[in-house]
Amino acid sequence: MRNIHHNIVTNVSDILLDIDGVLLDQSFDNLFWSELVPLELSTEQNISIENAKNEIYNTAEKVKGTMPWYELKFWENKYNLDLVNVALNNSAEIAFLPRAKETLKKLADLDKRIILMTNCDRRLLNVKASVVPFMKYVDGCVSFVEIGAVKESQDFWGPAFEIFNIDTEKSLFADDNINVVNSAIQAGIFNSFQVLEPTSDGSVINKPNSNFTIKNIGELI
Ligand SMILES: [Mg+2]
Repeated sequence: MRNIHHNIVTNVSDILLDIDGVLLDQSFDNLFWSELVPLELSTEQNISIENAKNEIYNTAEKVKGTMPWYELKFWENKYNLDLVNVALNNSAEIAFLPRAKETLKKLADLDKRIILMTNCDRRLLNVKASVVPFMKYVDGCVSFVEIGAVKESQDFWGPAFEIFNIDTEKSLFADDNINVVNSAIQAGIFNSFQVLEPTSDGSVINKPNSNFTIKNIGELI
């Protein structure tokens, strides 16, 4: 499979990458939403951790995969929390995935554009970028907030392609979320890869569900 992937990388001009679960260890996001946000809510509302976890979980189930789910301000307004502060206080947990940094360096050395496309809220992204220096290897970055649609929606892709003048046939895309991979394929990026191991500790292993799968971004090159 390595050669097939390598040929695809050779033949494209733009490399479009998700951030969390592809470049950065998704363990931080899992910790953030399943432990740190409930902890903050339990303190703010003086309720048990258990109740706070249930509250966050139930709300998340209702908005999963839509704009509010990914938007910090939705959660901050609903529960009166400062989530950027929560992220900053725990920023030591933000890290590259194994092989991500070396792969970014190798890709940056090729004559390709690297553009990040993320459903991460811009304010949370700024915290991540201040801790882990992935932005210096890339040529562009767009967050769903700037487009006004999440990557799961077809409404994301047209404006995103326009901003960067992207030719879908000369691009590859990688994401750990299969719904997003399928959305990208539908939008015309045939070379869309599903990343199977979004965490460094193996706590999440995605089921292979796409034509092109890689365990880790390191397999691209
Ligand atoms: Mg992701």
